[in-house]
Amino acid sequence: IAEANAFGAGGDLRLVPDPDSRISIRDDGQEQLRLYIADQTRTDGTSWGSCPRRMLTSTLSRLHAETGLNVVASFEHEFTLRGVDAGLPMTLGRLRAAEPFGGDLLALLEENGLQPECWIPEYGDAQYEITLRQAPALVAADRAVLLRELVRDLARRRGLAASFAPLAAPDATGNGLHIHLSLHDDEGRAALFDPHRRGRLSEAAERFCAGVLHHAAAVTAVTAGSPASHLRLQPHHWSAARAVLAERHREAMIRICPTVSFGSSDEAKQFNLEFRAADATSNPWLALGVIIAAGLEGMTGDLPAPTVHPETVGDDELLSAAPLNPDLESGLRALETDPVAAKWFDPDLLATYLAVKRAELAAVAGLDDDAVCARVADVY
Ligand code: GLU
Ligand code: MG
Repeated sequence: IAEANAFGAGGDLRLVPDPDSRISIRDDGQEQLRLYIADQTRTDGTSWGSCPRRMLTSTLSRLHAETGLNVVASFEHEFTLRGVDAGLPMTLGRLRAAEPFGGDLLALLEENGLQPECWIPEYGDAQYEITLRQAPALVAADRAVLLRELVRDLARRRGLAASFAPLAAPDATGNGLHIHLSLHDDEGRAALFDPHRRGRLSEAAERFCAGVLHHAAAVTAVTAGSPASHLRLQPHHWSAARAVLAERHREAMIRICPTVSFGSSDEAKQFNLEFRAADATSNPWLALGVIIAAGLEGMTGDLPAPTVHPETVGDDELLSAAPLNPDLESGLRALETDPVAAKWFDPDLLATYLAVKRAELAAVAGLDDDAVCARVADVY
């Protein structure tokens, strides 16, 4: 139990399952396990301020009340599979090496309505990537929570070990978590796209990005909040070393994703923002919650319009922008001293987040970067 413990030893809660979140795990045709996502409530059924799922739902309600908009999102996960003879990056051999895990994973996700889209033999050592179809924000975050557990569980059942840790070692290729999102009105009309403006960002989109950039230090203390996370957020990792917004650039914190002009799909609907300074040591509800909360500050406040870097932006220009947190402790300090960010959380939830993260830092105190990466990879 991390100190200071905001709750003491008294009190109690209930876990109320969300029936729509049901997952059924089968092997050999036999159902082995059923899983549900639950809300943490007080014993009288009212919501509990420190429930991380509630942090996201209450942020979504605020966004809707203040702007009339809803969020559609998708979490793109990379992970490493130990135990496969994975071969070369991005090859058929690597895809095959993960069988039957890969095929079984797609079937499991499909059967349970998680809507898998791509299963990719990625670039890093024994690295793979799985993407799911976009969904309303809460569903997308629930899916991210489930996906990680389903991947780990299936890997164990197939004699493998999956790790979502941001880095297996300091010089390894990172496992990123890229959070895609777009904003829609109640009629489903896309609100981020305006082909006549800079970066094709609508005014709402530009303001949203301004908020996320302005609060980047607090946001990344949540989206990339392990003692090893900052080691991935370095130049030339295709992650995000700086708080920048850029068109189609893989080293931007917020990447304005490309759209395609062939086929019948509407470009406004395809258009989305990709937050790349995240990894899967983060809690999906809190990670999406802080990005949206920061974006909402931008939409309702009067922050200056952000710089929109073109796709061709050079390294020098990119690296002249504000650096992200040099380490987790700096991030935690930014989170607790950003008076706006502190209001995104129930006070007990924020105090607990800070205490748990500082306990994680204490657990790796004195270790070198190799050992910190290894320790985080053991857990995640
Ligand atoms: N592995 C990179 C990361 O750590 C991302 C590579 C990609 O763009 O898919 O975020
Ligand atoms: Mg990738």
